[in-house]
Amino acid sequence: MEPKNAGGSGKRPLIFYYIIVLVVVMLLNLLVFPKMLERSVQEVPYSQFISLLEEGRVNEVYRDDTQLTFSITNEKGREVICKTGLWPDDDLTARLNEAGVPYAAEIPQQNSGLLTILLSWILPFLPFILLGWFMSRKMAKGGANTMTFGKSNAKIYAETETGKTFADVAGQDEAKEALLEIVDFLHNPDKYAAIGANLPKGALLVGPPGTGKTLLAKAVAGEAHVPFFSISGSDFVEMFVGMGAAKVRDLFKQAGEKAPCIVFIDEIDTIGKKRDSSGMTGGNDEREQTLNQLLAEMDGFDARKGVVILGATNRPEILDPALLRPGRFDRRVPVELPDLIGREAILRVHGRRVKMDANVDYNVIARSTSGASGAELANIINEAALRAVRMGRNTVSQEDLQESVETVIAGYQRKNAVISDREKRIVACHEIGHALAAALQTHSAPVQKITIIPRTSGALGYTMQVEEEERVLMSREEAFNKLVTLTAGRVAEELAFGSITSGASNDIEQATRLARAMITRYGMSEEFGMVALEQVTGQYMGGDTSLCCSAETAARIDQAVIALVKEAHDTAHRLLGENMKQLHDLSEYLVMRETITGEEFMKILNQATPALTE
Ligand code: ADP
Ligand code: MG
Ligand code: ZN
Repeated sequence: MEPKNAGGSGKRPLIFYYIIVLVVVMLLNLLVFPKMLERSVQEVPYSQFISLLEEGRVNEVYRDDTQLTFSITNEKGREVICKTGLWPDDDLTARLNEAGVPYAAEIPQQNSGLLTILLSWILPFLPFILLGWFMSRKMAKGGANTMTFGKSNAKIYAETETGKTFADVAGQDEAKEALLEIVDFLHNPDKYAAIGANLPKGALLVGPPGTGKTLLAKAVAGEAHVPFFSISGSDFVEMFVGMGAAKVRDLFKQAGEKAPCIVFIDEIDTIGKKRDSSGMTGGNDEREQTLNQLLAEMDGFDARKGVVILGATNRPEILDPALLRPGRFDRRVPVELPDLIGREAILRVHGRRVKMDANVDYNVIARSTSGASGAELANIINEAALRAVRMGRNTVSQEDLQESVETVIAGYQRKNAVISDREKRIVACHEIGHALAAALQTHSAPVQKITIIPRTSGALGYTMQVEEEERVLMSREEAFNKLVTLTAGRVAEELAFGSITSGASNDIEQATRLARAMITRYGMSEEFGMVALEQVTGQYMGGDTSLCCSAETAARIDQAVIALVKEAHDTAHRLLGENMKQLHDLSEYLVMRETITGEEFMKILNQATPALTE
């Protein structure tokens, strides 16, 4: 049913429905029923009737104005109705008496004819009428439902129903840790209230598809033993005008009554898309209303009551900034693709559910699936189990697993689904290049974490720097060190592989921006000194800069930027060139582990001969 029509109680379709039924019944009456009756009545000559009567096979006879109808028993012992025309026959009554056959004339009754007609017209209608009545009742009910939408539609999952705990979520330790605080808060909100602490109202789970965001949200509810209201952003799509907002209002009203509880909005990007400021898109009013209502509700309720809002999305970049503002989804929990250890753990969690050979080696499978998501790994286990059944075995073997890796990974055909071994080495070397350059310059732990697991951002690897992007104060030396670090990724590729890749594009962008800022805004070049050559405009809109100097100066700035970046590049080249062994050993280690901490990094760097046995 079209939603718009359903709003108008949907009478029109019902009329159509009756008309169709009427036509069908008419056709039945005119064409089918008479044929059926005809077929069951056999027309015979009068002479045959007489001979049948004499043979004693006629059971009974009826006579009306135009014909005789009689029944006989055929060879198979079944009763057959026959008819014959009226032949002038004065002896008929005597013959019938002689044969002892009951006979009667049908009384021409106007009534009975009418009754049959009525019956044949009304009886077939009856089931349809009943059905129609039933449906209209149902529809009326549905109509009522749309009035009080969220009430029956926002699913309430009590903790027994989600049945998930953190034990079901393998890996994702960082995400779990971040969510643990929320669980604790839901357990005893008073503890937090007593000290006056406000816990974040909402946390946004961000990560690629299939990494367990939905699973994590359910696990939080399961761990906290609180009601779990879940709604998916896609539920709001195709909703009647105004219903999205109403549903949101209702959801939060219910949640307020059930606090402490969790409200989970899955795929929040479907409603949380950036609102268009151009005003050119007329069709998005509904979504905007829904989003506005959501924002209002999030502001409206008191977090201390214990309602925690979790959101999940794999497209955080398209979310409306207002959603991410403090007081709303002010906490972001990255749920990234699992690393080697994480993958192995996920395989184990799902492997528990199937009968595995005792000698199955999950580590091997985990190694060959770098870049695969949790959902893909779960699927690999399942495919392996299916394969085992196909092969007529009752346990899953290593071979099944290996085969299913190929079917699942090839089946997805996703770009970057699995990184090739060579790519992995290049990415590892690149990332170690950054980290090593940083460490050699500062003589301290350069990073918190280095990983070659593809990130949500699309970067193939990632080096988490301790220092933040924009420091309050940065000396010229520090700024230059940073430039060296930024260029060192590419330099490492040059040194170790003798070729360069496109993987450094983001570094190049950052390095250029930094070098430019050093010259035009920080006054860190001897050539220009303390002259502001660039202005920052629109700093709330992402901080664009615009030149404020002559074209001739602009050309000189470009020259200076190029020279500065080149200087940094050469420094990195010298630095890493002197430490090739460390570069090599660390890269090997990273390829093996996929993620390493700053401490591990320093340990290996400081060891003369790093332990590479595992
Ligand atoms: P998302 O919401 O991030 O797209 P889901 O939470 O729906 O992903 O995950 C899909 C399925 O993949 C889960 O039901 C689970 O079986 C499996 N899965 C994903 N990540 C994990 C994990 N870390 N541990 C265990 N299973 C996982
Ligand atoms: Mg999901
Ligand atoms: Zn890089």
